[in-house]
Order: sequence, then structure tokens, then C-alpha cells
Amino acid sequence: MTISTIEEKYLNRISGLLPFFSKQLNAYRLQCPYCQLGSKGHKGRPMTASRCKGFFYSNGNALNYKCHRCGIGKQFHNFLEDHFSSTFLEYVAEREALGLTGKGTNAPSLSNAAQRVAGRLAGPSAEVDGGMESERQETAGRGDGDAGGSNQNQQISAPTQPLITKLPRLTPQQQAGCSARLAHKVKQHKQRRHCDPAAQYLQD
Ligand SMILES: [Zn+2]
Repeated sequence: MTISTIEEKYLNRISGLLPFFSKQLNAYRLQCPYCQLGSKGHKGRPMTASRCKGFFYSNGNALNYKCHRCGIGKQFHNFLEDHFSSTFLEYVAEREALGLTGKGTNAPSLSNAAQRVAGRLAGPSAEVDGGMESERQETAGRGDGDAGGSNQNQQISAPTQPLITKLPRLTPQQQAGCSARLAHKVKQHKQRRHCDPAAQYLQD
């Protein structure tokens, strides 16, 4: 059983809980649980399948999550961990049984995963490493199988303070994506300006 087969299996299992989940030609599309919460879009219009910007796509032999609105990118297990922690543990357990976790793989070991989930459940006030796990994973990328507790110098000032999630730094691809959108707008604007005088001549 390959990694992507297991990932597809678990994606299939959670798909019923993901709003507007649909299979596309080369990807799965869904409402982004990071930035498109609720039944209304960001402009107050009702959510529809075509306004969904979250995608799971196959990256070689593994599934990755990518949102084309907020730009968040996650490996499949990180997505599971963020939204379906018990399914996440089952998933890691199944992979561990096949020897597909830890160093050299794209998934944490079961004990590491359990620690991370426990840290999340305990909340930001807890002292266990895990309160700030979400930030660490976003920068760590691959190779978090052997991550012990390298990044623990972040202090949490007050337990009542809301947990602020930092947005991940944009990858070059994402930056290119942003500028492409800008370039497109500029082009549209130029075309419109270009069109207007021509239209006048035509009317004359
Ligand atoms: Zn998003």
C-alpha cells in the first residue's frame, strides 16, 4: 500500500465532513477550512462549489492541500491534524504499522503525533510542546518525523490571550501567483483604457 493510497482512503473518510467536497479532474476541491468558514463567501454571498478555493492535489506520491485564496499549503497529515485530530492519529497509526512514519517519510511517528495532539487539546496555556505547533509545522515542511522540540523559545504571555496564528511565509510559487493576479488586473485596466479612445473613433 503506497502513501497516496492511504491518504486517499482517509481523505475519502473525511470528505463527507468537508463542505462542497468534489472530485475534479486532477484534484479534489472543497471549501477552505482555513479562510472560508461559514455559509457565506467573503463578499457576503452564499458559498457555492465554484467559490471554493481549497484543493487537494497529488504531489508525486503524496497528497497536498493548497488554498488559492489564503495561500495556505499543507501536507495531508498536517491538514488532518488541524481539523480531524482523532482521524489524524488513526492515520498515523496505520502508517506506523506499515513502517511509513518518522525520519525520511512525510509523517510524524505515532508517539510524536500523539504528543502534538495532546498539546493542541491542552491549549495555548499548556506547557507541553505543542501550543505553537501549527507555526512550527508550516515552516518545517518535510522531515518533521524526527522533530523533537527544536523551537520552544516562544513565550506565551497570558493564558487568556487568544492564540495568534501567523500566516506562513509565501513560497516563490505563491508570490508568483500573487503577482500574476496583479499583472492580470493591470493588463485588464490597460486594455480598458486602450479600448475607450478606439470606441470613440468608431462612434464618430
Ligand atoms: Zn483558504
